[in-house]
Order: sequence, then structure tokens, then C-alpha cells
Amino acid sequence: MTQKKVAAFFDLDRTLISVNSGYLYAKHERANKRITAQQFWISAFYIVLYHFSLVDIEAAYRKAATYYTGVPEEDLRTRTHDWFLEYIQNLLQPGALVALEAHREAGHPLVLLTSSSEYVSEIVMDTWNLDAWLANRFELDEEGRLTGGVNTPLCYGDGKVVYAERWAEENNVDLDASFFYSDSYSDRPMLERVGQPRVVNPDPRLTRLARKLGWPIHDWNETENAVLL
Ligand SMILES: [Mg+2]
Repeated sequence: MTQKKVAAFFDLDRTLISVNSGYLYAKHERANKRITAQQFWISAFYIVLYHFSLVDIEAAYRKAATYYTGVPEEDLRTRTHDWFLEYIQNLLQPGALVALEAHREAGHPLVLLTSSSEYVSEIVMDTWNLDAWLANRFELDEEGRLTGGVNTPLCYGDGKVVYAERWAEENNVDLDASFFYSDSYSDRPMLERVGQPRVVNPDPRLTRLARKLGWPIHDWNETENAVLL
């Protein structure tokens, strides 16, 4: 039997990049008048709650997906691509670059594990040369338009563990020996699932947990001590 591989999983928002991309996306959509002012403020409100793990994210995500009912997938892909180039591609944290390189060097597959959309994830993977992504996907009708539905479970909280386990199984990866990097308390289930949890510029709740459990804490505003293999 071949030995199982070690992988490195990365959260996106406030981990690989320094911001919440959902907020910037909502702002961009509002600027282009593709969502109403009210929809924008609802989204912004939920993103704040989400940051502090105070919200039923499933309900919020389902609501956001309904804004796109009837939009052709290709349009959304193009929009997301344009938005990414303008707002996101320069926001990779300095420490993230160091960590990605170190894991690549070590031969670990690099996997994006995010609650953002599949369209964002495709571009992230191409831009920073990752090997795979696990993210939220939208239901499509026969003509390739969004129905307003989202695949379940959501790739969030416990759902991230479901997708990671499935992917690990298919790719001969041992999660007990793998790494996961995140800033957010909402990622606690996946941080507990891997053998090498890594906490990056954590929110206050996650800081307390990491200190209690002895998980390494990194500051990815810096390149020093960005990675501990
Ligand atoms: Mg995050």
C-alpha cells in the first residue's frame, strides 16, 4: 500500500487574503447596480456577524444566492473574474505567499477550502497556483442559469470537514497528518479534524481557543515565522 499524502488546506477570507472578499464583492455588485442598496446592507450586516461567528450562515448564504436567480453561470464567472483582477489579486498576505511556497516545496498538495463561491475559487487556484479547491457551488438549470439554490452541505463550519474528507479519500490524503490554516472560529471543526491546525491572524474567540489548545498562531502581515512545518 502506498503511503498517504499530507495536504495543506487554506481558508480564503482574512487568511490567504487580508479582507473578506464577500464584502468587496457585494460592494462591487452595488457599484454596478446589480444588487439594491438594501441587499447590499443586508449582505454587509451578515458578513460582520459571520466574522464573529454570530450568524446562521446557511440562511444568509441561501438568501444571497437568491439574488442571482436566473443569471447565466458564464456571466457570473466573467463578473467574478473582472472583480478579482481589480480588487483581490493584490491582497495576498505576505505570510501566505511564504506558507504556500513552503508547502509546495514540501510536496504537499495545496487546497483552497472556503465558504466563498466556486467562481472565486477557480480564479484563486489559477492565480496562486493551488492544486484544488473546495467551495460552495450553485445549482443550475438546464440552460446553465442559477436557480437560486446552493449545494449542500454548505462549505462552512462542519461542512468544510465533509468536503475535505471526501477530497482526502479520493486523493489518498491523510487528514490526521495534514495542515489547515484559518482566521476564524467558525472553522473550528476543520481545525480540530486535521493533525496540524494553524491559526492565522485569528478573531478573539479563536485566539483564546488556540492558546488553550496550543495551536500555532501566525501573523501573515509579516513574512517572518509564517509557517511551521
Ligand atoms: Mg476566514
